[in-house]
Amino acid sequence: MLKRISKSRHYKYSVSLLLFGTLAACNLGSVFATEVDIDMGGAPTDEQHKLQRWIVSGTTAVESSLGKLPGKRIKFELVMKPNANEPVPFAQVIRGAPNKIRLQVNTEWPLQDFVDDWTLYHELSHLYIPYLDYPSFWLNEGFATYMQNIVMLQSQVIDKATFVNKLQAGLERGRLNTISQPGKLSMIANDMWRKRAYMRVYWSGAAYFAEVDALLLQSGTSLSQVINQYSRCCLTANSTGSELVRQLDKIAGTNFFFATYIQYGERTDFPLVSPEQLQAIALHYGGKP
Ligand SMILES: [Zn+2]
Repeated sequence: MLKRISKSRHYKYSVSLLLFGTLAACNLGSVFATEVDIDMGGAPTDEQHKLQRWIVSGTTAVESSLGKLPGKRIKFELVMKPNANEPVPFAQVIRGAPNKIRLQVNTEWPLQDFVDDWTLYHELSHLYIPYLDYPSFWLNEGFATYMQNIVMLQSQVIDKATFVNKLQAGLERGRLNTISQPGKLSMIANDMWRKRAYMRVYWSGAAYFAEVDALLLQSGTSLSQVINQYSRCCLTANSTGSELVRQLDKIAGTNFFFATYIQYGERTDFPLVSPEQLQAIALHYGGKP
């Protein structure tokens, strides 16, 4: 089923071909056609199959939540980090045609540890919204941080209780970081790298999407549905936060995205997401007990 297309270290797979059996068995109803191109970067031969399985199943998990990835194909570049104390110590998105994701890996970790690692889901989620202006950067990181957990929940990598715990623990890290990083969120996001204000920026953004998603669920839609539609009709490489949220509202037929965005950019405190909101989200994406 795996088709080797060249003598180099590059391998191409059709996600639909590889996972057709799994998808059919799960009755997910749709088959995606994104071509996955993996540069193994010198990974030991006997570890390559494991790495392929991880990347292809992670890509399918994200597409099951958010719809087909933008672009006809996606490229992955693996960089060996033999001594890392986690399977994926670092990763980055390189936007272009095709989009590329560079992942540092320690190939010695078992497959399950790769599947349980959030990095791949996070980086792939980034591709569904544009690269935004720095004061709105909390939307970029917040979206990927929130979505990595939704994807893991929907693909049953984590259960509902773990989802709620992970969100609560992350939000707490964001709250603590807000004490040492005061000021308006848009200003802190604009200077995130110099200030090393990652936790405040990432988790204020994740709180934003949790809050908006909870509102969308009450009105009969969901963030994943809105983003799915947005990525097919309107996605551009670059945009502004303000333009993005207006477009999302247009698709959803609400003003939730824009009204909450204005409020968040100005806020100097850390947002409160209630246990009830998290439970409602977990129930929607996590399905039956
Ligand atoms: Zn990120």
